[in-house]
Amino acid sequence: MPHKPTPMDLSHFIPDKIKECDRKLRQKDERIVALETENAMLYLRLAQLQGELGSTREAMGHMKRVMEAEDDSQLRIGHACIDMHHKVKECKHDLQQLRDLVESVPSQVTFDLDLLQEKAARLTQSLLTDNLDMQDLRDRVYELEEEVKTADQRFTKEKKRRKEIHNTLVELRGNIRVHCRARPIMSRDAGPGIMTDQVVHIIDDENLAVKYNKPGIGASNKMFEFEHVYGPLDNQFDVFEEVQPLLTSLLDGYNVCIMAYGQTGSGKTYTMLGDNYSDLQIDEELEIRASDGVVPRAAVEMFKLIAEKPANSHSIEVSVVEIYNNDIRDLLEPDAAVVKLNIRTCDDGSMEIPSLTQRQVENASEIVELVQYGMKHRHEDATLVHAHSSRSHLIVTLTVSTFPQGVPTTTPNASRSASPVPELPSPGSFPARNLRRNLSIPAIAFQSLSLSGTNSPLQIQSGSSTPVFFPPSLPGVVKTKLQLVDLAGSECVGMSGVTGAALRETSHINRSLSALSDVLAALAEGRSHVPYRNSRLTHLLQDSIGGDAKLLVLCCVSPTQAFVTETLQCLGFGTRARQVQRGQTKKRTATGSGGQSSGSTAHSSQSGELSPIAIARNRGHRSSLAVTSSGSLLPVPHHLKEAHMRHRGSVPNLESHLAQFNAGRRSPRPLRPAVNRSDSSHK
Ligand code: ADP
Ligand code: MG
Repeated sequence: MPHKPTPMDLSHFIPDKIKECDRKLRQKDERIVALETENAMLYLRLAQLQGELGSTREAMGHMKRVMEAEDDSQLRIGHACIDMHHKVKECKHDLQQLRDLVESVPSQVTFDLDLLQEKAARLTQSLLTDNLDMQDLRDRVYELEEEVKTADQRFTKEKKRRKEIHNTLVELRGNIRVHCRARPIMSRDAGPGIMTDQVVHIIDDENLAVKYNKPGIGASNKMFEFEHVYGPLDNQFDVFEEVQPLLTSLLDGYNVCIMAYGQTGSGKTYTMLGDNYSDLQIDEELEIRASDGVVPRAAVEMFKLIAEKPANSHSIEVSVVEIYNNDIRDLLEPDAAVVKLNIRTCDDGSMEIPSLTQRQVENASEIVELVQYGMKHRHEDATLVHAHSSRSHLIVTLTVSTFPQGVPTTTPNASRSASPVPELPSPGSFPARNLRRNLSIPAIAFQSLSLSGTNSPLQIQSGSSTPVFFPPSLPGVVKTKLQLVDLAGSECVGMSGVTGAALRETSHINRSLSALSDVLAALAEGRSHVPYRNSRLTHLLQDSIGGDAKLLVLCCVSPTQAFVTETLQCLGFGTRARQVQRGQTKKRTATGSGGQSSGSTAHSSQSGELSPIAIARNRGHRSSLAVTSSGSLLPVPHHLKEAHMRHRGSVPNLESHLAQFNAGRRSPRPLRPAVNRSDSSHK
């Protein structure tokens, strides 16, 4: 058996041991504290290092980005270098080419120079040839120009001759000309249920066709021929150009009448007065506008023509009337609504309206102003076809007096400012300075006044029945008149959709237009009785339609199917008017000797010479009085006057006849106006 050692007593070692252990423990604790301190320090250091590591990492990242950017830029620079290299290469190549070119230029220039020199030589050669040709051409052009000039002159001459022949033809046909005007299709021609097809077709200057559909029959085509035809493209100037020669005739001694005929809305007022006639221009210097019609243009033309005549040899008086319900109304009277006028036929066949307002005018503006004033009083109504349907015939009369020895200062014509004629009441705002009344004046009264040299104040009273004194219509004075007529619409009753009083107007219009048609028909058939007196219209225009006047009828038509019935009626009227054969017209002369050439009248009126015997012509006294070469005034019986006309110029003969004739009579006394009561329709 193993011996088990006996435990030795170690107790005296234990305190030492404990001390030792305590010491060691303390050492260990100290060591632990030291180590913990160190550990804490290390932690701090670690944190510090970690912080540094973070900033280092950041710096590294930044560095990396910088490096990358650097790499990029190096790459770009590399590319740029490569490009540059290529460019340099190209430049070198170009340079080489340029060098080659420059080296080749001298030889090329020399070559081109040679070519150019050769060309120049050739051009010089051809220039020489061209110069020669040019001279030839110049000669040829000159020759051609001469030929054109001659042809032009011949053409102008031929045109003039043609016009003269045409005018002669028209005069031989009786001096009634008929023109036709088709207005353009307008917006108001369209509408629900309105037939807007164009039916009037202009063929040329003288012909037109109406192609229309007849209900139940079908297409129909009618041709019409007139002295002139105006289409929608012809303007107011074109119309007046054709009308204008008639005005020259006025100063040559003819009465002239221009009338517009046609249905309402066909352009009568547009043609005669112009567009927007209420706004006709009335400046001092009347400037014609494109839309102005025949009246303002004629006014300007009249004064132009008069300006070409000897100074102070003409005067113009204007009257404006309307015929409404067969009554004549003075549109220059403020109370025109109530004044009814009558027509008087003078011995010489001319028509006159006693107590009609006449105004002397000194320029075209005044005429236009008067017409405009008159238009304000004209009867107008709205109808189905036109908002401003004229219900009356408008007649503007310009009476031109030709004074062979100048406008006498004692007549109202001569002096507007110091007129011896008392002024009548002014119509509204209208200047009354040139107003006078067309009164029945015994011509002898003027003669005795002027012959005796009395300067007694002239008296005037209105009204035809009262004897009056009036400044003289001197011997040798030629009076011609221009009548410009805007007729009322020619449409049938029913067309205008009127009733009552308006129906009465329309029936009066229709009756007067029928009367006009009848008069033209009677003239066309050469009937001995021409029914002028069937209406005031034909009666008033008697000496313009059937007398020695020149008449122009302007037939106005609307161009569409809706108005075809009225259009055909109007064209039929125009065609019948053209058939009137009146024989050659006679001009009005101071001696009353009709049928003289225009030249002779022009001469007598321009030279200022009076005929040896001037028959005093003052409204119907032309055939009643004669001034003998000794200056005395004698009544002339009709048969002697006619004898004188047959043997014009045999003054002593007439004087002795007069002496014989008057021997059996009492001494000459002032004659009363000879009112011709016989029906003047017997020509
Ligand atoms: P009417 O007097 O015949 O009743 P208007 O002269 O008053 O007819 O014409 C009717 C309308 O047609 C007006 O508005 C007018 O301006 C116009 N007109 C007529 N003719 C022409 C034309 N040739 N050119 C242009 N417009 C026209
Ligand atoms: Mg009208």
